[in-house]
Amino acid sequence: MAYKITEDCAKCGSCELECPNQAIYEGEATYLIDPDKCTECVGFYESSKCAEICPVSASVPDPDHPRK
Ligand code: SF4
Ligand code: SF4
Repeated sequence: MAYKITEDCAKCGSCELECPNQAIYEGEATYLIDPDKCTECVGFYESSKCAEICPVSASVPDPDHPRK
């Protein structure tokens, strides 16, 4: 399942720098995740890096984008 960023995002930008797939980019109100690029960090990290590092827990699994 891809991750998505909720409206709680504080736009700190940390997750964009940490994503191993360059799946995260800055949107208008929040940072955003491209579900086609997000691999849940499989092969890079034990758990999803963006969720782990987000100071406001704004990165969450997105049930609308199950793993293909
Ligand atoms: S780490 Fe969290 S608060 Fe910072 S830009 Fe990413 S989703 Fe937003
Ligand atoms: S879960 Fe991993 S691959 Fe997906 S957006 Fe977050 S840091 Fe990038």
